[in-house]
Amino acid sequence: MFKTLDDNSVNLDKNLKLMSISAIVLVVLFIYTIFKSDTAIHNGSYLIGIGFLFILMFVAFFLQKYKSKLKTNSAFSKELASATSQTKENLRDAYVSKIESVKTDTTFDDVAGIDDIKGELEEIVDFLNNPKKYKKYDVSLPKGVLLVGPPGVGKTLIAKAVAGEAKVPFFYQSGASFVQIYVGMGAKRVKELFNEAKKNAPAIIFIDEIDAVGKSRGSSNDEREATLNELLTQMDGFDGKSGVIVIAATNKIEVLDEALLRAGRFDRRVFLTLPSKEDRKKILNLYLKHKKYEIDIDKLAYDTSGFSSAGLATLVNESLLNMIKNNRSSITQEDIDIAKKKVEFGKKQHKILTPEQKDILVTYQATKAFISGKKVALFDEGLSVDDIIYPSKTQLENMIKANLAGIVGLEVIKNEPYVVFYSELSKAKELAKDMVEKYDMAVSVENVIQSLKAQLRQTISESVNQEKINQLKEQLIEDEVVNS
Ligand code: ADP
Repeated sequence: MFKTLDDNSVNLDKNLKLMSISAIVLVVLFIYTIFKSDTAIHNGSYLIGIGFLFILMFVAFFLQKYKSKLKTNSAFSKELASATSQTKENLRDAYVSKIESVKTDTTFDDVAGIDDIKGELEEIVDFLNNPKKYKKYDVSLPKGVLLVGPPGVGKTLIAKAVAGEAKVPFFYQSGASFVQIYVGMGAKRVKELFNEAKKNAPAIIFIDEIDAVGKSRGSSNDEREATLNELLTQMDGFDGKSGVIVIAATNKIEVLDEALLRAGRFDRRVFLTLPSKEDRKKILNLYLKHKKYEIDIDKLAYDTSGFSSAGLATLVNESLLNMIKNNRSSITQEDIDIAKKKVEFGKKQHKILTPEQKDILVTYQATKAFISGKKVALFDEGLSVDDIIYPSKTQLENMIKANLAGIVGLEVIKNEPYVVFYSELSKAKELAKDMVEKYDMAVSVENVIQSLKAQLRQTISESVNQEKINQLKEQLIEDEVVNS
């Protein structure tokens, strides 16, 4: 655009010069004609000549004005263009320079519970601390570790603790920050992030909410795709011995692009769930360490099923605030009750279930565990998937039954249908649809669902089975997990 304005200005200059020369030539010719011929001066050509000269002068005058205006515009545009590119450069610089590591002093001691998860990550800490030990046997570690779990269960905390234990720089980036920026900058930022980490190796790169950038490709977001492609390129571009470990976190592994999960990228997956009762106790003890309290931690751990670790941290903090507000120096049950209300209000996931609600959930999950024969935790939605390579009709039917079990269990035991985990009903229907449309094993979805529900009703109604379900319920209330 700016180039066009400049071109116009040059063209105008040329035209004006031509016009001025033409006007001068005409004036000279005109004077010459007047001088040479006394007769022609009285006819029409005299008037035409005068008129033409006036038009020429008028146009020249108009263009002169337009030219100065145009030149002003052009100068302004140039200034604007240079200012804009300067601002862009500045923003770009500021943006790129934001990629900095932090030294974290978080250690595994700051992470309560989740001992198995810590165990899985200890190997990485050891690798970062003693690279020679691994180099000697030419062993490389997975370049990427994917932490999968709901919000607030300590994914960021544990990644920080790995960096803290290994005393290596921690590069934190959230997936969303890659894509909420200029076109082309997401990929640049990814490159910059890896370059910085490699320069500072050994180092940990932590990408929070990787699903923001790592969703399956094929949607219309070109910027995100370009960023994801760069991430894949970067992941392939260094080897496991370089000392850079990428830890990514997500709560939606199912939406991630397959390429990210392919061998050589995030080879290690660590699954985190909401804390168990035992872990809640450990977390509460950690946050109440060095504080005075008059509460029963066991009971509080029992009452807070469904709370995330972050929720528990907030609960203790809110209780302390209430204690201070009331000029006390020790936390009482009243502080906890007030804090619980606040936490519950703030986030749905911290809802404390009433005894009746808890009974519905427990019945649903106990029946599911009984029918599926799998390990089920109180808040587990969905069942672990068996790696069946050649599914038989019976195996498919059993999977559908496992997904319908809770629904039928409530129908039989509580004499009323309830909605607990809607996703499991959808899953059952999806499988039934596959049986009809893909595998040609059934006539209709409705038929499959209804006949399997009838079988389940029969099984669950038997009194010995109800007794077994009741035992599972008790165990589920006590331990929050059952393995039937
Ligand atoms: P996520 O990354 O899974 O969303 P975070 O790691 O950000 O969760 O956890 C948020 C906060 O919750 C942490 O800063 C910490 O205060 C607390 N927290 C989470 N998990 C634990 C844990 N296992 N032990 C102690 N505190 C925890």
